[in-house]
Amino acid sequence: MPAEARLTRDGPAPAPGIVHLGPGAFFRAFNAVYTDEAMAAEGGAWGIRAISLRSPDARDQLMPQGGVFSSVTLAPEGPQVRVIGSVVDVLVAPEDPEAVVEAMSDPAIRIVSLTITEKGYCHEPATGTLRADHPDILHDLEGGAPRSAPGFIVEALARRRAAGTAPFTVLSCDNLPSNGRLARGVILDFARRRDAALADWIEAEVRFPGTMVDRITPATTEADVDRLAELKGWHDPACVQHEPFRQWVIEDEFPAGRPAWEVGGAQFVTSVDAHETMKLRCLNGTHSSLAYLGYLAGYETIAETVGDADFAGLCERLWGREILPTVPQPEGEDLPAYCAALLERYRNPAIRHRTWQIAMDGSQKLPQRLLGTVRDNLAEGREVPGLALAVAAWMRYVGGTDESGAPIDVRDPLADRLKALCDAKETPEGRVAALLGVRDVFDAELADNEAFATAVTAAYRGLEDFGARAMVQAYARG
Ligand code: NAD
Repeated sequence: MPAEARLTRDGPAPAPGIVHLGPGAFFRAFNAVYTDEAMAAEGGAWGIRAISLRSPDARDQLMPQGGVFSSVTLAPEGPQVRVIGSVVDVLVAPEDPEAVVEAMSDPAIRIVSLTITEKGYCHEPATGTLRADHPDILHDLEGGAPRSAPGFIVEALARRRAAGTAPFTVLSCDNLPSNGRLARGVILDFARRRDAALADWIEAEVRFPGTMVDRITPATTEADVDRLAELKGWHDPACVQHEPFRQWVIEDEFPAGRPAWEVGGAQFVTSVDAHETMKLRCLNGTHSSLAYLGYLAGYETIAETVGDADFAGLCERLWGREILPTVPQPEGEDLPAYCAALLERYRNPAIRHRTWQIAMDGSQKLPQRLLGTVRDNLAEGREVPGLALAVAAWMRYVGGTDESGAPIDVRDPLADRLKALCDAKETPEGRVAALLGVRDVFDAELADNEAFATAVTAAYRGLEDFGARAMVQAYARG
């Protein structure tokens, strides 16, 4: 690919109004697109200064092309490409943390949004509270240049308060339960450990609207970059691929203003709770179930997995029998139609969303995606055979060996501990009991629930004896 074929910005970049932490694939397919459309329709200084808290990849991909990138909609009828210009620049926090704090302290910045994955909040997934023993939190509380998202946000808010600058709104766009409340909780906890008066100010002045975000965005591969070059004639390593569908439900609390995201269809509501439960349980719950069971059955992508009628049947049964009975009615949504649309989205052959990718970080994801649903069913005296099968599949997966005996590349902050627990036990019962004892994932009440432990153990045994395909078939057809 010749160097001159690189995508470049046409015209000036917009003036910044947003700092975004975590400029990964999802941000590019979602926040950046909505903001681009809002500025195109309504104007406004809402350019985005993106901050990577980890690797320089996003900067190295985006900045040689002036921050612009291609957003590729993977429709079943073929790809559609748009160039997105809302990203103004990218800073890499470990290289220059002071520049990041300065960017966030700029009075022009009115929103700090986040897609930093579950891990970025440095919280205890089972309780949602700040992990005071997290190495980055310990480091940041000692003072000096921050490393963690809470550390950066609190330092920038402290400087704004000292300078008499109004605070920014903190907008979590990660898939977490009550993401606004969770972000508020960890930031306030962090601030209180630093300075009680600062914490009081944040509590009174800073808004943390909750959001529900949805657009399937698989990680971009080199083959995707090559395909785009063939299609459009430009080389864009920052490109992002995503499904046509998108949904953004946002609590409308932006005292310092916001872009006209409704232009792109964002729904503004007073509470996002019911939408979020619908999405976490219906979409993310079945996505994780398909990821572990599909991976064990040898399927590489979600589309391949639901191409197997029994796995599609697994989703339908899970929704009908175990998930929808626990989901409150969100305003303006038709729940059975929402689930039927989900299955069509999963089937989109243009989306190569890998089971392995969705399977990542299960210890962080399981509590909100599957275990809340389990708990609500158990409290109502309902059985959870399908959810227990999904949990058992996660347990098989983190054991680190697939059904053909090949090793699994398990990516999870607890991977070593989970594997060691599995390796130390000889029987399925022993392994399930050991994993149920991991308090980061299962709280004591759930782990001690006999009906749940029995169902998970039976499913785990079934996976070992008969394999994932047979167990899914038995559930879907049973
Ligand atoms: P990605 O791997 O492309 O990007 C992740 C971003 O988070 C990167 O910028 C990375 O540097 C940052 N990050 C990772 N660990 C971190 C940590 N410990 N502290 C601070 N920053 C950290 O992933 P993505 O697809 O962009 O997904 C990001 C988040 O977006 C997900 O965790 C999820 O909550 C949300 N989301 C993703 C999708 C999707 O389909 N990909 C859909 C809905 C929501």
